[in-house]
Amino acid sequence: ERLQDSKVVLVTGAASGIGFAAAQLFAQHGAKVILVDLASGRLKAAAEDIGHGCDFRACDVANWEQQVALFDWVKQTYGPPEIVCLNAGIDPELATSQTPSAKEKVVSNYLASELEPREDASEGGSQLKQPPTVVFDVNFYGVLYGIKLAVHHFPEGKGGRIVITGSAASQMGVVNQDVYVASKHALIGLMRSSAQRQELKDKNITVSMVAPWLTHTGLTANLPPEILHAFSTESSQPVDVAMGIAYLATAEKAEDVHGRCLWIRGKRCIEVEGAYEKWLGNLIAS
Ligand code: NAD
Repeated sequence: ERLQDSKVVLVTGAASGIGFAAAQLFAQHGAKVILVDLASGRLKAAAEDIGHGCDFRACDVANWEQQVALFDWVKQTYGPPEIVCLNAGIDPELATSQTPSAKEKVVSNYLASELEPREDASEGGSQLKQPPTVVFDVNFYGVLYGIKLAVHHFPEGKGGRIVITGSAASQMGVVNQDVYVASKHALIGLMRSSAQRQELKDKNITVSMVAPWLTHTGLTANLPPEILHAFSTESSQPVDVAMGIAYLATAEKAEDVHGRCLWIRGKRCIEVEGAYEKWLGNLIAS
């Protein structure tokens, strides 16, 4: 059975990793998928890789005007989206040589240098500069803008599904990744509060979250070997997380997913376990 015949699906952060795997999964099941990313070179290659049934559009999700233009373009070109996966995210502390966008590198270097205490001889002591807000701009505001625009653009009377990519790190905390973890934790509050809005209930819109443990993508490629080893039995591949996203985007009963968080560990999920495992089993069997 095909997951989403002919539905228009928008996936942000789709040039690589989890977003790419989700876009590929939706396209394989007959959806019209729009891949969205900051990294326009990789984005085109990713769309070509998937081939059939997809298009792409470069957009910085942290930029409200660019997201407005994105949603307008999708609506005019393909009709209103019915599934919106807000997956783009950065963790400059983990930025690697595999995140080739010039902007990402600048952001990474900038953050690293800005967080370093500076010796200021003239003041006679060390001073901290104000940390930049780019991690929240992308990870939190990028999602907030996406929710607002998706709710506005979903087709009248049909409703829609919003799936956010959070992180298991938001529950555990991770040393030296304070801002990233905080931005992902903020998304839980945003998701749960959005879910309570009457407008979403009236319009038959669900909002939910997938929260992966360590997943093998460009984001985590440069983690020290001992950390990768420690997580080896519990780590996920992008497709494992993509399955969780697809479930949240397509589950028959809205109440099974609305306001819920699916914690993915390896191939399994914690919470809504029964419903998800049954769905996954049926999908694999079909
Ligand atoms: P990734 O780096 O492979 O993919 C992230 C994509 O987002 C990249 O293609 C990047 O170009 C894009 N992006 C970054 N900033 C953007 C912006 N401003 N506008 C549009 N696109 C932008 O990493 P991934 O692991 O696939 O990450 C996907 C999501 O999963 C992120 O939100 C990340 O925080 C989350 N996550 C990842 C892991 C993991 O272990 N890999 C664990 C938990 C959560």
